[in-house]
Amino acid sequence: MLTLRNIKVWDTDEVIDLVVPGFADGHGLIDETGRIIPGELIMPKDLPANGSFVEVRLRDHIEIDATGLTLAPGFADPHVHFRDPGQTYKESMVSGAMAAASGGYTNVLIMPNTVPAMDGEPVAEGEPGADEVLGAGYGTVIDYLQHYAEAHKMAGDLPVRYDLCVCASKGRAGHEATEFAKWRRYMPGVDDGSKDAAQLAHPVTAISDDGSAVTPDTLDAVFALAKESGLPLIEHCEHHETGAVNEGPVSRELGVPGIPEDTELRIVARDIAKARETGVHVHFQHVSTAISFDAIRKAKAEGLPITCETAPHYLALSDEALLKYGTLAKMNPPLRSEADRRATIEAIADGTVDLLATDHAPHTLEEKERGFLEAPNGIIGLECAYGVCHKVLVDGGHISDRRLIELMSVAPERLMGHEATDVAALVEAFSEPAPNSETESDGTVVEGRNRLLDLGKVDDPDAVDLVVLATDEAWTVDPEDFHSNARNTPFGGWDVTGRPLATIIGSKMVFSRLK
Ligand SMILES: [Zn+2]
Ligand SMILES: [Zn+2]
Repeated sequence: MLTLRNIKVWDTDEVIDLVVPGFADGHGLIDETGRIIPGELIMPKDLPANGSFVEVRLRDHIEIDATGLTLAPGFADPHVHFRDPGQTYKESMVSGAMAAASGGYTNVLIMPNTVPAMDGEPVAEGEPGADEVLGAGYGTVIDYLQHYAEAHKMAGDLPVRYDLCVCASKGRAGHEATEFAKWRRYMPGVDDGSKDAAQLAHPVTAISDDGSAVTPDTLDAVFALAKESGLPLIEHCEHHETGAVNEGPVSRELGVPGIPEDTELRIVARDIAKARETGVHVHFQHVSTAISFDAIRKAKAEGLPITCETAPHYLALSDEALLKYGTLAKMNPPLRSEADRRATIEAIADGTVDLLATDHAPHTLEEKERGFLEAPNGIIGLECAYGVCHKVLVDGGHISDRRLIELMSVAPERLMGHEATDVAALVEAFSEPAPNSETESDGTVVEGRNRLLDLGKVDDPDAVDLVVLATDEAWTVDPEDFHSNARNTPFGGWDVTGRPLATIIGSKMVFSRLK
C-alpha cells in the first residue's frame, strides 16, 4: 500500500491524501531506477521477449510526501503506432505500452497500419507479418491484438489500456472500403455477451487509413461505413504525390522537393463537406496549417460534427528544425512555417483544437539516416509529450495547467468513446477524514487535515485511471532513458517542464518515478 500525502486534485485544487492499494498484480510496476520505492522493487530495463513484467512486493506501507504534485485523470492518446505485428524491430506492443506508461498515458488507440494491416480480413499464410498472427492461433490482426497478453503468455495485462482502430480500406490500399461485416463484432456493445474479457477490453472504436488520406475511390463507401457503425472517421489529411518537407525557404535551401501547405486543406475541406452531407463525425489528425485551422474553426461554428487534434511537434517546431535535426524533424504532415506553428498554438488556445495526440511513430535510427527523400516519416512522442507541451503552452502563457490536462486526457478519452476518471467525484463520494485527523466531541473534524481517498474502497476500482504530475519539474529529455524501442525524436537534450511521475491503471500503479 502506498499513501501520497498532500496531493492536489487537478480541477478543484483540493489537497487530499491518496491511498493506492497496490501495484499491478505480480507483473506491473515499471520503474526506471529501482531505488525510489523502498520495497522489493525491480525494474526491468530490458523486458524479456515475452513481455513478462517482474513481480513487485512492498515490504510495508509506504508514505510519500506529494506536496506540490497534481493528481489528474490518466492521459489518453488516440494516435499511436506500435508496429506490432510486422515491424517489432521498431516497436512492439510491450515496448510501446511501457513508453505509454512512462509518459503518463493510461489509454491509447492503436493505428491500423500494422503489417498486415488491421482491416478485419483473415490473415493469409505467407503474407508479411502473418506468422506472428497465425502462429499465435488467431485469424485476424484484430483478434491477435485483442489477445496479445494471452498470445505472448504474459502474466498479466500490458501496462496501458488500448483500443483498436480499423482500416478505412482493405489492406489500407485505398481501392476498396473495408467490409463492415468483417469487423462489426469487434465494436463495443455488439455481441458483448459472447466476448471474452480481452475482446471486451480492446474494442474497435474508430476508423482510419492513417498514413494516407481516404482516397476519392473509397470516399463515399468509407463515409457510409462510418455512418452505419457510428464510429468516428479519423482522417490523415495529406495527399501529395511528391515532396518530402514543407515547401518554402527551407525546402529550397535543402534542395528537397516541397509539399505545399494546401495539400492538407484540400482533404480537410473535402471531408468537412462530406460531414455536412452525411452527419458523420470526422476527426482530423495532426492538423498543422493555419488555413486548415481556419476551415475547421468555421465548420465548428456551423455546428458540424468536426473535431481535430494536433501533435507536440507542430506547436514546438517549425520547418527550420530540419536544418538543425535533419530527418529527425521529417514527418507527414511536414513541420510547417513559423507562422503555421503560431497558428497551431492559437488554435489550441481558442479551442479549435480539441485534443493533443502524439502520433508516436517509431523507426530505427538507421532508417532515419537515409536522407530527406528516403527516410521514413514520423517521430516518437509518448515519453516527452507532456513536458514539451507544458513548456510551450503553459510556460508560454497560452493555456493553463488544467486545460493542458483536459487536452491530453478528458478530450481524447471522449473521442474513443470513454469517460476519463472524475477525480473530484471520487473524492466527493468515497473520501473520508484522514486517519490522523481528530474529531471533536461535536463531530467536527480538526482543520488542517486532508480528506483521504483510498482507491481500494471506491465502488469500481478497476475503472480508476490516474496520473501523478509534477507540473513544475524541470528536466532534460534523454532518449536513452526512453522505454520505447525507438529513439527517433528531435527533442533529445531539450529542457522542458512538467513530468508524469506515476501512472495508475485500475487503481494499481503500473509505473512510478516517485521519490
Ligand atoms: Zn497520419
Ligand atoms: Zn499516425
